[in-house]
Amino acid sequence: MKIAENTVVTIDYELTDESGNVLDRSKGGNFAYLHGAKNIIPGLENALSGKTTGDQISVAVSPEEGYGIRDESRLQAVHREMFPSDTDLEVGMQFHAEGPEGEVLLVTVASIEGDEVTVDGNHPLAGVNLNFQVSIVDVRDASEEEIDHGHVHGPGHAHHH
Ligand code: ZN
Repeated sequence: MKIAENTVVTIDYELTDESGNVLDRSKGGNFAYLHGAKNIIPGLENALSGKTTGDQISVAVSPEEGYGIRDESRLQAVHREMFPSDTDLEVGMQFHAEGPEGEVLLVTVASIEGDEVTVDGNHPLAGVNLNFQVSIVDVRDASEEEIDHGHVHGPGHAHHH
C-alpha cells in the first residue's frame, strides 16, 4: 500500500550532512512513525508521501524543511548557578530548559567563560542541509487509537496507557 495520511510507515534510514558524515541512522533498520502527524520533519514526510514498501529514496532536506534555520537570538548567557551544582559543565552538554511559554526546550552548552555559560536553544541540526537515504520497510493502516494519540503503538515502542 501507499504511504498516505494515517498510515504507519516503517523505514530504514541513514542521515548524513553535506560532507557525508553520518549524523543518525535507524537502529536495527526499524523506525516507525505515523504519517501525516508531524512525527518527523516536513521535508522527509513530504518526500515519502505516495511511496510504497520496497521503495528506496534519497531525499535532500533544506534547513527550512528540516530543523529550522539557526537563530542567533537563541544564544543566551546564563550564570553557572542555573545548573545543578553537581554537574561538571562541558561545551556540548545538553539540558532541558523551560521556554517562555512553558514549553520544554533542548539547549546545548555553546561556551563557558568563568561563571558565564552560553547556551544555544537552536536544535543541534538547525541550519544543516540534510541528506536521507531511506528504504521503506513496511506500510500499514494506523489503528484508531494511534490516530487519536498521534503516534505509533506496538512492538518496539515502550508505550503504556
Ligand atoms: Zn499512545
